[in-house]
Amino acid sequence: MNTKTRTLASPGTGPDNEAFIAAAKEGRLMLRHCDDCGKTHWYPRAVCPHCWSSKTQWKPASGRGTVYSWSTMQRVDPPYTLAYVTLAEGPTMLTNLVGAGPYRIGMRVQVLFQPSDDGTPVPVFAAA
Ligand SMILES: [Zn+2]
Repeated sequence: MNTKTRTLASPGTGPDNEAFIAAAKEGRLMLRHCDDCGKTHWYPRAVCPHCWSSKTQWKPASGRGTVYSWSTMQRVDPPYTLAYVTLAEGPTMLTNLVGAGPYRIGMRVQVLFQPSDDGTPVPVFAAA
């Protein structure tokens, strides 16, 4: 069993994501929600990608989702697993699966946060 862990690159912090990062530091996932069409989107944008409204705001998310697809990169050290996770709130995000497998499509997962290379927490998912 490989015990090394892969450190993800920092997303950086700016006016567009400071609320997201602040919540992530407390272990909470935030998603951008549109007050005009009622849809939630990922990645976070100030303008809604569904209806172009600028009436968007951060809302707390459940952190729960299901695996839409995944792929483990075996030929790197340490291996890692990329996945699309469809969140309970609707959007699908590209992320990493961590923790013990085996992974499968439709698997229920829960968000957790890992420190990136500068310490900024980034969301990853593990089996729920
Ligand atoms: Zn909208």
